[in-house]
Amino acid sequence: MGEEEKEALARVIDSGILSRYLGCWHEDFYGGPEVQALEREWAARFGVKHAIAVNSCTSGLYAAVGAVGTEPGDEIIVPPYTMAATTTAPLVYGAIPVFADVEPDCFCIDPAAVEAAITPRTRAIMAVDLFGLPYNALAINAIARKHGIRVIEDNAQAPGALHFGREAGSLADIGVFSLNYHKHIHTGEGGMVVTNDDELADKVRLIRNHAEAVVEAKGTTDLVNMVGFNYRLTELQAAVGRCQLAKFDTLLAARQENSTYLSSRLAEIDCITPPKVREGCTHVYYVHACLYDAECAGLPRQRFLEAVSAELAPTELREGEGVLLSGGYVRPLYLQPIFQRRIAFGSQGFPFVNPWNPASPRYDAGLCPTCERLHTAELIEHELMRPPMTRADLDDVADAFTKVWELRHTL
Ligand SMILES: *Cc1c(COP(=O)(O)O)cnc(C)c1O
Repeated sequence: MGEEEKEALARVIDSGILSRYLGCWHEDFYGGPEVQALEREWAARFGVKHAIAVNSCTSGLYAAVGAVGTEPGDEIIVPPYTMAATTTAPLVYGAIPVFADVEPDCFCIDPAAVEAAITPRTRAIMAVDLFGLPYNALAINAIARKHGIRVIEDNAQAPGALHFGREAGSLADIGVFSLNYHKHIHTGEGGMVVTNDDELADKVRLIRNHAEAVVEAKGTTDLVNMVGFNYRLTELQAAVGRCQLAKFDTLLAARQENSTYLSSRLAEIDCITPPKVREGCTHVYYVHACLYDAECAGLPRQRFLEAVSAELAPTELREGEGVLLSGGYVRPLYLQPIFQRRIAFGSQGFPFVNPWNPASPRYDAGLCPTCERLHTAELIEHELMRPPMTRADLDDVADAFTKVWELRHTL
C-alpha cells in the first residue's frame, strides 16, 4: 500500500459516495464509477469479456455455483487441498461436494480422479489453481466437455499465471479471483468473477445484488437460483483495487524472480524438490510449495522444518507475520467436522442427506491418499520469497535449508 492508494481513498471519501449500488433495476444496479472502472480494467488485464467485482472470492464462488444452475442433490467435484470455501460453495445450493484427489507433483485436482468421480448427477468441477500454478485445464476441460458439465476455476492463488498463453482465471466457464489481504494484490477483502459467457455474467450480477428484487423489472424470466445476496464491493475497495492492479505486474515479476532464484538454490538439496512448473504454464508462487523426502533426509519433516525455522527467526520478524514456514498446508478438507459429522445447514444432515440424491458421499480417511500423504509427510510451503525480499534475504533462506541439510546427522 502506498501513496496511490491513500490518494484514491481520499478521492472516494471526498466524493461522498462510498458505495453506489441500488438493489433494484436502476442505473445504479451495477454499482458506482470506481467499481465499474475496476471491472473494465480487470477485464482488459486478464483478457475476459466480463469481470464482476464481488466482496470476496468466497462470495464469487457461491455466485458461480448458483449461476451454473446448480440443483439440490447435484454433485460438484472438488479437491481436498484448497481453501475451505471451494468446498462449501456447493452446499449453499443444496449440492453435494464430491472429493477427487490431487496430483502428486503439481498439487491441483487430478484429472484421473475427476473422471472416476463423475456420475449422472455431476453438475460441475471446481478446479483450483493451487499455490500459483494453473490446474490441468487441457485434461479437466476435456473431461467436462465430454460429460456436458461446467468447470468453475478458483483462481484465488494464481492471478497472472499462464496456461499455454491464456490467463489463469479465464481457463474455465467461469473463474473467481480473491482480493483478500493474503493474496498477490488486495483490497482488504474483495474478489472478482470473470467469464466470457454473457448469460453466466448476467446471473452472477443478479446474485451479487438482490436478484429477487430485480428480476421482474429487468425482465429476467429464468428464476433458477435468482435469490440474491449482497456481495457488493464498496467504492473504497474498488479504488484501492485499481491502484493495486496498476502495480500488479511489477509485484508479480519480483515474486516470480525471487521464487525462481530460491528454487534454483533449493534444487541443490537432495531431500527437497522445488515447485514444479506444469508444461505450457507459468507459476506465480502464491506460496513456494516444495516436496520433502524424509527418507532421503533421515529426518521427519517437522524436525527439519523446526531446524530451518530456528535459523530464520530474524527473517520472520522482518516479515512480521509469525510462522511463514510450515508443513502440509490444510488438512484434507473432507476430514473437517462439517463433512465428518455431515452437519451443514440445519441439524438433519442436509444437504448430505438429500431427497433429490440418495447416494451417500464418502468422506472417510484414506479417501484421497495423495493429498493425505502430502499433508502429513511430503509438502513444505512457505512465503519466504515475497517482495520486497532482496537477493540477500533469499540467500538467508536458502542458506538455512542448506545448513540443516548438511548438518542433518547431528539433529
Ligand atoms: C483465499 C482463497 C479463497 C477465499 O478468498 P476470500 O476472498 O477470502 O473469500 C478461496 N479459494 C482459495 C483457493 C483461496 O486461496
